[in-house]
Amino acid sequence: MSISRLASAIEESPTLKLNEAARLLRVKGEAVIHLGAGEPKNKAPITAILSSAAKLKAGDIKYTPTDGLPSLKKAIVRYTEENYGRLPAGYNIVVSTGAKQAIYNLLFSLINPQDEVILLAPYWVSYPEMVKMVYGVPVIVTPEDGTFQPRLEEIEQAVSSYTRAIILNSPNNPSGVMYPESFIAEIVDFCERRDIYLIMDDIYHRLVFDGKQPPIAYDYTNKDIENTRIIVVNGVSKLYGLTGLRIGWAIGNRRLIEVMTNVQGQITSCPSVVSQAAAEGALTGAQNAVENLRLTIENNRDVMIQELDTFSDVIVTIPDGTFYTLPDFRAYQADSIQLSKFLLDKALVVTVPGVSFGMEGYLRLSYAGSTKDVLEGIERMKWALDPNAPNEIYIGDRKLIRDWL
Ligand code: PMP
Repeated sequence: MSISRLASAIEESPTLKLNEAARLLRVKGEAVIHLGAGEPKNKAPITAILSSAAKLKAGDIKYTPTDGLPSLKKAIVRYTEENYGRLPAGYNIVVSTGAKQAIYNLLFSLINPQDEVILLAPYWVSYPEMVKMVYGVPVIVTPEDGTFQPRLEEIEQAVSSYTRAIILNSPNNPSGVMYPESFIAEIVDFCERRDIYLIMDDIYHRLVFDGKQPPIAYDYTNKDIENTRIIVVNGVSKLYGLTGLRIGWAIGNRRLIEVMTNVQGQITSCPSVVSQAAAEGALTGAQNAVENLRLTIENNRDVMIQELDTFSDVIVTIPDGTFYTLPDFRAYQADSIQLSKFLLDKALVVTVPGVSFGMEGYLRLSYAGSTKDVLEGIERMKWALDPNAPNEIYIGDRKLIRDWL
């Protein structure tokens, strides 16, 4: 069977692969702890459920306009006004099947073969693969000082005449760090001057801790949505914990949104109308769901950091937001795939190898699950890795003895 060279070069999503590995182990009755999850455990906001149920009850489940239900787009306009201080027109917005599809459509619409897209390590796993899927070239910039904070000078050095776009994701999956205002100001100015699209993947923008506020890219340009190079991507997956709805959107200039809509129209048409109704319910309903989720996650972050601090040799950068942290485990094992496999094998804990995010030797740990899972997951990791930890542990109803350190 012959498969296209491009398609066969695309890697399986490591996070989705791990979800499947964990599910299969659970089916076998194993007491797996999933510290790889990219979704919170909260209940869906009731307004989302009622709004989609109303669509189903009325049997109102036909195609919608390709760029999204007008009423949902209105809700996105309001959301943008409230959270970004900008008022996009309806034609500046396209609703897609998840932020994932929004980003893919965007790259498809911007990139000519061999054009370059700058990604900042640690980066979300799907960016490099998506860039390759549109025959573009991902150019990775890794902060040389060993932090997760990019510097403009390093980005400038990576820019060439082929650079079409830079993708920023802050707060960042996988590190949880939020880029400072000064950096956002510099990069917005740079992109406007150099005519490079700045894609702001804001999917975690309200899941921020310690009373901090995420800088808003629009605040650093005096150009309006029609003329700025800033494109904002957002969605309901993370903020409202509505991952399975698959609703995201992009905001940009009219021509770009029109092209993205044409692209989408030839692939998936509109996103599911039931999901669009649910997203509208979430956006227009009481917003305490977001705050409750944020508080639970912040508490889990504190617990995870406190537990990681008890390892003798793990280096942790405290996350400002998201539900991830990316500690440095190089003192234990330099190969993050080996380490992740070892932890699943010995301790039944799912972690995501840092190499998938461009950070070899690190592991991405999620605190989106229960506090109990965070505590028990880290205890098991400590048992497996740290010679100072007690060498006996109960995993499920089995007592295990460490005999490898
Ligand atoms: N961007 C980032 C940084 C993400 O972490 C994710 C989800 N893992 C997405 C985009 C995609 O979100 P959605 O579920 O809306 O497709």
